[in-house]
Amino acid sequence: MKDDEHWRERLSPEEFHVCREKGTERAFTGEYWDCKEQGVYLCRCCGEPLFDSGTKYDSGSGWPSFYQPADAEVIEEARDTTHGMVRVEVMCKKCGAHLGHVFEDGPAPTGLRYCINSLSLRLDKDATG
Ligand code: FE
Repeated sequence: MKDDEHWRERLSPEEFHVCREKGTERAFTGEYWDCKEQGVYLCRCCGEPLFDSGTKYDSGSGWPSFYQPADAEVIEEARDTTHGMVRVEVMCKKCGAHLGHVFEDGPAPTGLRYCINSLSLRLDKDATG
């Protein structure tokens, strides 16, 4: 796993805060919450393909929302009890980047809502899932 110094050199302060310090961008402010373009959403830190645009939906939350990851193997989950809530944090398994959280109020077919920060993602419009 790369250290903080590695990522500080490569990420903007905002990206670093969200991806490496488990921050959260303000709702309805990110690059992708309302994005309907096709492609594959990559980890902004390491480029791993994380979510396909075909599984993205409008959750009304103000954050990009997906009902499943591109591959179950690319996501790591952890119990998060900060901010007085019990949530399930999701991270990039390859580089440990904080992505967001997963909730059980999503649409069919999974019933899951992966609520992800735009700052943790980079849309590759040329890729297909
Ligand atoms: Fe990553």
